[in-house]
Amino acid sequence: MSKRRSKKYKYRRNGHYRSSFFRANSTGDVRRKYRCVYCGTYKKDDNITVDHLVPVTAVDSKFGMSRMYYRGLLKRMGCIKGVNDPRNLVAACHSCNQKKGSKAGLWVLRARLGRHGWYWNTRRVVTVAALVAVALFALAFI
Ligand SMILES: [Zn+2]
Repeated sequence: MSKRRSKKYKYRRNGHYRSSFFRANSTGDVRRKYRCVYCGTYKKDDNITVDHLVPVTAVDSKFGMSRMYYRGLLKRMGCIKGVNDPRNLVAACHSCNQKKGSKAGLWVLRARLGRHGWYWNTRRVVTVAALVAVALFALAFI
C-alpha cells in the first residue's frame, strides 16, 4: 500500500481489523476467552465482536470539532495506523456492541476503562464495600 493510499484509509474501516485484533491480543490460552470491555463478561473468540474503541464514524464525521477531538484522541492513544490500529480495537459481546452502535462519548470512556483488569477488580471491591456500608448503616438504625 502506498503512503498516499494508507493516509486516505487511516480513518476508514478496513477489511482485516478483526484479525489484527486477535493477532495483537493473543490469549495464549486454549480457551481463547476475551472479556467484553463494556460489561466484563468473558466470551470465546468466535462469540466476540471486535469493536473500534474510537468509532469510525467519529473520526470520519462531518462535524469538524468532534472529528478533530477523536482524531487527537487516537493520536494520544498511540494509534499511528489510525482507526484500525490494534490499540483502538477492543473486544465486545454481541449485545453490548449492538447497544453501542456508532455512539462515542461515554462509550469511549467505558471501553478505555474496561480494557484494564484493574477496572473490573476495583469495581467489584467498590460494589462489595458499598453493600457492606449500606448494611452497617441499616444495622445502626435498627
Ligand atoms: Zn458486553
